[in-house]
Amino acid sequence: MSSACEYSRREFLKTTGAVGLGLLAASAAPQSLCAQESGRVPTRPFGKTGVNVSILSMGGMFDIPNNQIMLRQAVKWGVTYWDTANSYEGGNSELGIGKYFAKYPEDRKGIFLVTKSTAWTLKGMTEHLHLSLERMRTDYIDLFFVHSIRSISSMDKDMQKWGEKAKAEGLIRFFGFSTHSNMEECLLPAAGLGWIDGIMMAYNYRLMHTDQMRRAVDACAKAGIGLTAMKTQGGGQVLTNDPEELKLAGRFVQSGFTEGQARLKAVWENPQIASICSQMPSMALLSQNAAAAMNKAGLSALDREALSRYAQASSAGYCAGCTRICESVITGPVPVGRVMRYLMYGRSYGNRDFARSRFRALPVETRAVMDRLDYTAAEARCPQKMPIGRLMREAASELA
Ligand code: SF4
Repeated sequence: MSSACEYSRREFLKTTGAVGLGLLAASAAPQSLCAQESGRVPTRPFGKTGVNVSILSMGGMFDIPNNQIMLRQAVKWGVTYWDTANSYEGGNSELGIGKYFAKYPEDRKGIFLVTKSTAWTLKGMTEHLHLSLERMRTDYIDLFFVHSIRSISSMDKDMQKWGEKAKAEGLIRFFGFSTHSNMEECLLPAAGLGWIDGIMMAYNYRLMHTDQMRRAVDACAKAGIGLTAMKTQGGGQVLTNDPEELKLAGRFVQSGFTEGQARLKAVWENPQIASICSQMPSMALLSQNAAAAMNKAGLSALDREALSRYAQASSAGYCAGCTRICESVITGPVPVGRVMRYLMYGRSYGNRDFARSRFRALPVETRAVMDRLDYTAAEARCPQKMPIGRLMREAASELA
């Protein structure tokens, strides 16, 4: 990082002096300067694909058609790994990327373009793939994911053949899956399949230190699978207004980071993770994240300890996605992990419309029983000690 950049951060801290959550938003200003001065986001190899990707990936869950400047700036800062999905923004995310490539076709070859299908059938995936190509005005997808699998059984022989055929036709370069649920149980066997090129999984300072997750990530890294972390903020997911948030914010502003930047750095400290996918719907967030990626300063032992303490103190507000534990003891068809995620979209990401639209896509019979079921057994088994019953009832009234 340039000395001018260090200067602006020191000046920022001197000027603001006191620490508090209310001041945190202002930290975008000096970090933005850092991003502009430091050049480009670094890259890392994506497994054994032979491709180097930017360690920060632009998540596409925002109004891209009307925010083309975000993509332009991302290119300038070297955020050249773009992530979208057939379902994001009702298709507008992919259309927005297509709009960009129509205007700047020369940028396509420098972008590592990832999209995903939620069809979960071979025929549906083929339809989605062709639609994605058309929407994004491109001849090929760099990495195509089967979206949001909950068990490795989804990646069967037929799926393998589908991926091989799409590659042979030149429609995709690499194939894999994304997962928000039972991540460790999906990653570990995936490492043994031999045909998975890339995986995107929920991974953050809360999840990355368990033995199970370490083993799963090690196995994938050894197998040459490219790994992208998502949900890296891992905080305030479903229970918000946590006083612990205030303590954490104070801790990192004193260190010269926002707490969001510290959470990114915690994940980048693991070299087995090629990239972090982050939803960055505003220039302030893009510039903060790009600055964190370009800034080589690491976390101190005290910073790591602060994150760990916060993770423990606020665990009841964070769903770890281990749905096999809770969903198997609920008497009705409620996908607890998915509903927790929708609450997170609405409460933590502030994307209430998206949260509601996802919630409304749940089967009617699920929504009808959600606030009536007994979740006592599930709560007793939940390793995060989440108040599952209360949260399911709140979701039923908040997102209906
Ligand atoms: S509610 Fe608890 S048991 Fe269920 S997926 Fe979330 S953390 Fe795991």
